[in-house]
Amino acid sequence: MTYSQRVLADLKEKNFDQPEFIQAAQEVLEALAPVVDTNPKYEKTGLLERLVEPERQIMFRIPWVDDNGNVHVNRGYRVQFNSAIGPYKGGLRLHPSVNLSIIKFLGFEQIFKNSLTGLPIGGAKGGSDFDPKGKSDMEIMRFCQAFMNELYKYVGADEDVPAGDIGTGAREVGYLYGQYKKLTNRSEGVLTGKGLSFGGSLARTEATGYGLVYITEELLKDHGKKIKDARIAVSGSGNVAIYAMEKATQLGAKVISCSDSTGYVIDENGIDVEAVKQIKEVDRKRISEYLNYHPNATYHEGSVWDDIECEVALPCATQNEIRKEHAERLAKTGCYAVCEGANMPTDAEATQVFLDSSVLFIPGKASNAGGVATSALEMGQNSIRSSWTFDEVDTKLKGIMINIYYHMKEACEEFDAKDNFVVGANIAGFMKVADAMMAQGIV
Ligand code: NDP
Repeated sequence: MTYSQRVLADLKEKNFDQPEFIQAAQEVLEALAPVVDTNPKYEKTGLLERLVEPERQIMFRIPWVDDNGNVHVNRGYRVQFNSAIGPYKGGLRLHPSVNLSIIKFLGFEQIFKNSLTGLPIGGAKGGSDFDPKGKSDMEIMRFCQAFMNELYKYVGADEDVPAGDIGTGAREVGYLYGQYKKLTNRSEGVLTGKGLSFGGSLARTEATGYGLVYITEELLKDHGKKIKDARIAVSGSGNVAIYAMEKATQLGAKVISCSDSTGYVIDENGIDVEAVKQIKEVDRKRISEYLNYHPNATYHEGSVWDDIECEVALPCATQNEIRKEHAERLAKTGCYAVCEGANMPTDAEATQVFLDSSVLFIPGKASNAGGVATSALEMGQNSIRSSWTFDEVDTKLKGIMINIYYHMKEACEEFDAKDNFVVGANIAGFMKVADAMMAQGIV
């Protein structure tokens, strides 16, 4: 057994009840094999064993009271995975499916993603099994305050800086920040994705979706294709999906779909992004409402990947939404590029189908890194007590995404894995973290 295989086998045994974490770790360890199995220094210093074990994981109860006076108890998580290159950074997910396996998979991915941005941020993730759907504004506020009542002990501007994720948008970040300030009396950049009036960065809301489209554009350009007029399928209708659709449409692409957890909409005239914003960001309703704006569009229950035909796919909803049968159909029906907006939306078998059928594929740790990169820019602005214009931030974001693309591509070429961006992204993200861990000794 090679070094990486042995670490993976141990990890599977120790974490047998954490399928998502095993899936993410397996992808990374297999991709890193050409580096770690040929350099004995990594085994000698137990580097992989240290990398796959979080530095710290915190689980706690979150008691809160609903509008009718009933008490609820949710479980809160913060997994501080790796701080070798900077303070922990990663979002907070609020969704009933949240458990330790999901938070560990997300925190592990975050290490490499954050490294790929070129900025000094370590990897972490957190969240709760709280379901924000159907809750009143006051219930959301009380839940966020209860969450922060425990979380504040472990976070700080130079220590750990959480952000949004599924179920955690500007409203939730605002309530979390307000409670942190109340408890600590500190006005510091402890969270990113804040409102513009209290330290938020322009372009942070748009950053993950815009960044996804910037890297997709570069990928296509580098392979003799154009985003203009491309037929693009998007899944999800949350923060990432909305701003991916907005930027793709601005660049002349035709976005034909979006979805939520109940169904999907197809609009052959191009998705009306303003209508989706109204439905999801303002009214907080189901995506089926889209037909009230555009009766010629169609609504279907189930997953958008069941029958969509497109040239470029941007999955922006959640993990493991594209499975083998979806990937085979996409590859057969003319899809030539898949860039992940969500974290791990393509399962392992589907990823293999794309790689085998030469569909260009960029994993989320590279293609959705624009959000955390802009969060790091927000941290920078907070620490110098300044703010940059939208164009300044957007230009930096675009530069970062293009750098990620070429950084990944160089790693592919160096390790004889042309166009295998799974290998390229993992190796490029790993090298900086590994160098820092080696330099800092066995800690
Ligand atoms: P939002 O909560 O804003 O939106 C999530 C979208 O995905 C909604 O349309 C939601 O539908 C749908 N969705 C959620 N869970 C499921 C499910 N189990 N099945 C089908 N659809 C589902 O989240 P974001 O847009 O912020 O995040 C989307 C993805 O992008 C996540 O994987 C996240 O980790 C990743 N990401 C987000 C970043 C950010 O900056 N926001 C940065 C990097 C990655 P419904 O409305 O019905 O719940």
